Amino acid sequence: MAAEKILIVEDEKPLAKVLKYNLEKEGYRVLTVFDGKTGLEAFEKERPDLVILDVMLPKTDGFEVCKTIRQRSKIPIVMLTARKEEVDRILGLEFGADDYITKPFSVREVMARLKAIFRRVLDKDAAAAAVRMGNLEVDFEKYEVRVHGRPVQLSPKEFEFLKCLIAAGGRALTRDELLEKVWGYDKSMEIDTRTIDQHIARMREKLGLEAERVVTVKNVGYRIRQD
Ligand code: CA
Repeated sequence: MAAEKILIVEDEKPLAKVLKYNLEKEGYRVLTVFDGKTGLEAFEKERPDLVILDVMLPKTDGFEVCKTIRQRSKIPIVMLTARKEEVDRILGLEFGADDYITKPFSVREVMARLKAIFRRVLDKDAAAAAVRMGNLEVDFEKYEVRVHGRPVQLSPKEFEFLKCLIAAGGRALTRDELLEKVWGYDKSMEIDTRTIDQHIARMREKLGLEAERVVTVKNVGYRIRQD
C-alpha cells in the first residue's frame, strides 16, 4: 500500500516545516500550503488521505476550509488551534472535524494522534459489513444508512456513533467510552460530553421512525436496541 498522503494547511511556516519533516520521517507523503484558499485547491487536486488544518489562516479561515472539505469528502480532518475555547466549535456539528490539537503541541503528540486516526480508518475498512435491525439497515462499507429502505444522510461523526453502538451489541456505552471510541480521547482530556448528546440528538432526528432504537440509559450513556 502506498504511504498515506497528508495535506498540511498552516501559515506558520516553521511549524509547517517541523510537521512535514517529522511526518516524512514516519513515512507519510506530505504536502504543505500556507493559506486556506490554496489549501482547498490542493485538497481538490491532490486528494490527500488526511488534512491537518490550522484555524487561523489567511484568505479563507480553517473553519471555512473544513466545512467545504466536509461537504465533499469524509477524509479525516485534524484542526490546529491556539485557543481552547475554539474546541467546541471545531468538534461541533457545523464544521465536522475529526480531531483537534491545541498549540503549542509536541511533535510526539501529533504523531500519536495521526496514527490513532489512521488506525481507526483502517479498522473501518477491515470491518466491512452490513447489519439490519428492524427497519434500520447500516452498510459500514458504503457508509449507507437506510430507514424503511430510504437513505438517511448521517454526518461522519453520527455514523461513527451509530457504528460504535451497534458494535457494542446492545450493551450500554458511557459517554466517556463513546468519546474514546469515536475521537480517541482518554478521560483526562478536557472535552465536553454534551457534544455527544448533540450528535446523538441529531442522529435520532435523522433516523425518524427508527429513532427509538438509540436508547438513552439514564446516568450512563447510550445503547442500541437490537430486536
Ligand atoms: Ca495560523
